[in-house]
Amino acid sequence: MTKLVFLGTGGGRFSTIYQIRATGGLYLMDGANMHIDPGPSAAYQMHRMKLDPAKTDAVLVSHCHPDHYTDAEVMIEGMSRGGLKRRGALIASRSVLEGSQRHGPVISNYHRSLVERIQMAEPGGSTAIDGVKVRFSGTKHSDPTGVSFSIETSAGVVSYVSDTELEESVCREHEGSRVLILPLTRPWGARIPNHLCTEDALEFVRQVRPEMTILTHFGAKLIHAGPERQASMIERGTGVRTVAAQDLMGVHLGKAIRIHRFEG
Ligand SMILES: [Zn+2]
Repeated sequence: MTKLVFLGTGGGRFSTIYQIRATGGLYLMDGANMHIDPGPSAAYQMHRMKLDPAKTDAVLVSHCHPDHYTDAEVMIEGMSRGGLKRRGALIASRSVLEGSQRHGPVISNYHRSLVERIQMAEPGGSTAIDGVKVRFSGTKHSDPTGVSFSIETSAGVVSYVSDTELEESVCREHEGSRVLILPLTRPWGARIPNHLCTEDALEFVRQVRPEMTILTHFGAKLIHAGPERQASMIERGTGVRTVAAQDLMGVHLGKAIRIHRFEG
């Protein structure tokens, strides 16, 4: 059984600054435990879900924006049992590890020394975390070195698309995904550069045609417009089951895909 937990569903500046939605990233369990994009509140959300950071096998950071990386060092300390045991993998974009023109680097030398392995995630590349393959592909975003992660789980491919504009070459990389996780920052009719709005996401889903789409990374304006409404527009327009994620929502992937709402 493959499980996903949405430790946050907020994204963009104002959602993050005011924590209108949490921004703790995505936790994936499939033999290996992966924490993708641990932004602000990741540690707290792990605590609320009774997930133990000491059991994380890899921290993955898609790009160098604070809603995706700020708790990465804390989670690395967790993964390495408070820094007492060199353990786990850090997989991150070039901007996060080396820095690019305007971004990063953001992981200290001390935290780099706590992990067993560091790998730069570049489009076209891949890695394996305890036998689970993760492929990297490109995005079109204000951090030009950002990457998406396609995880080949025992229940099919789960694609975590990182912040991007709609572009055919970006969509094409996710064909064959069973679950497509899209960063929907803006609502219908409110497109901004570097991000997806609802009509962009609809087109993305139409091209990829996954079994299910899960929307996350909601900006303040989108939260106001209603994430569920955007999800039903996409579902109606594509015929693909589409869900707006909620904070701490779980997804169980077996033969069927089951959603578990958090009732803490
Ligand atoms: Zn971003």
